[in-house]
Amino acid sequence: MAQWEYAPAPESREIARLRESYGMFVDGSFGAGGETLKSVNPATEEVLAEVAVAGEADVDRAVAAARRAYEQVWGPMPGAERAKYLFRIARIIQERARELAVLETLDNGKPIRESRDVDVPLAAAWFFYHAGWADKLEYAIPGRPDPRPVGVAGQIIPWNFPLMMAAWKLAPALAAGNTVVLKPAETTPLTALVLAEICQQADLPPGVVNVLPGAGPTGAALARHPGLDKVAFTGSTDVGREIQRTLAGTGRRLTLELGGKAANVVFDDAPLDQAVEGIVNGIFFNQGHVCCAGSRLLVQESVHDEVVEKLQRRLGTLRMGDPMDKNTDLGAINSAEQLARVRELSDIGEAEGAHRWSPACTLPDRGFWFPPTVFTDVAQSHRIARDEVFGPVLAVLTFRTPAEAVEKANNTPYGLSAGVWTEKGSRIFWMTQQLRAGVVWANTFNKFDPTSPFGGFKESGFGREGGRHGLEAYLD
Ligand code: NDP
Repeated sequence: MAQWEYAPAPESREIARLRESYGMFVDGSFGAGGETLKSVNPATEEVLAEVAVAGEADVDRAVAAARRAYEQVWGPMPGAERAKYLFRIARIIQERARELAVLETLDNGKPIRESRDVDVPLAAAWFFYHAGWADKLEYAIPGRPDPRPVGVAGQIIPWNFPLMMAAWKLAPALAAGNTVVLKPAETTPLTALVLAEICQQADLPPGVVNVLPGAGPTGAALARHPGLDKVAFTGSTDVGREIQRTLAGTGRRLTLELGGKAANVVFDDAPLDQAVEGIVNGIFFNQGHVCCAGSRLLVQESVHDEVVEKLQRRLGTLRMGDPMDKNTDLGAINSAEQLARVRELSDIGEAEGAHRWSPACTLPDRGFWFPPTVFTDVAQSHRIARDEVFGPVLAVLTFRTPAEAVEKANNTPYGLSAGVWTEKGSRIFWMTQQLRAGVVWANTFNKFDPTSPFGGFKESGFGREGGRHGLEAYLD
């Protein structure tokens, strides 16, 4: 039979309008810092730009600017007026969507198809949705007819969805009348800085949004700053714990969105072809750099071999390589450090006795790459079944009864998300009540919407983002 060949379909990088250097954004204007960091394209290891690193003094300046803006302009401004700015930001994100998508793909390594179809549209949707709330806050929380903003929020975000995470943090905070100091991740600061530029373009009053690039020390300086009223953090459980310790006893509010080790549970009555698509989307979307990734596949024993066979066949068709090619399914690992972690945990998986499999694929010579990987014969005690790999690595386990599925799914220190695949509605309802996870998807996976709260239990953190619940975190 004739094979379909894909012609190359590269997106143009010109539209990213990449600059040689990017400054930090404080009090409405961009400025240089003492030190700089280099942002690298993980698919090629090419240095994309030099970016200012914010130090302690910059954190002080940004928090002071946010406080002034909160007290003098943004806090007192009627919600209907604030809404206009949020709508404007949402529309400019749409207007500059292609530029943002290309820049995100260059800086992060994710396929252009994902940044174009997921990250950027969701970032715009987050601003549109929250713009609608800005003048209706008295209806946001039942029993609290006159909610007040919390004040100045420090927000720290990771590298897996740089623009989208910035939007998830900024939009509810601004809608509720707070001002913000945001720290993007060291390896992916560029789209957050273009978002700062979009705030300028939208005439957002100076100091309402401040963006401070830098590495861990910048984040730590921000988290401990006494001028903040609230800290919101998304990232690893270890850093989340450290921030919680820093804030203990200060009276400052905190929300944490941390790691996960989600169970994706496939029953024998599930439509298996659809389930396989859901498994692939659950763990290989965004190279598995997803806190809610379905990294533990729990398959009913009677269909295990069939599911694994279908999955392997499907993985053989995934296209890995240049993230700027519109046909690419799997892009680059975000950094050399993350690649080392994925490799280490996968090697441990093999050493502990699980069976490792990857489809035949050629990895590019330069850049940070890891093939889609499936482990079978996995025991619950294996590190690949317990630790968050945060890469394209799936651990497959089996169960016989629904009760066993629940017990295994909940046997994790995390509790962010889960998936259930079955034809029976009653089983879906039963499972969703048993699973200790903030989000449970039924016959789908990795679906996000600004109206829907997202967040975890246990070591996955606390507080919700999205929907009315997400607004609560920014209202007093
Ligand atoms: P981190 O938790 O270190 O990074 C998240 C953010 O916190 C980044 O902006 C980071 O800055 C910043 N940060 C780092 N140290 C501190 C600190 N002491 N105080 C305040 N802020 C700080 O995640 P990593 O990037 O190191 O990833 C490590 C692991 O964490 C991954 O392998 C994955 O398992 C998990 N992870 C989970 C995420 C999730 O969404 N739940 C997201 C990212 C990672 P910078 O990056 O500049 O150092």
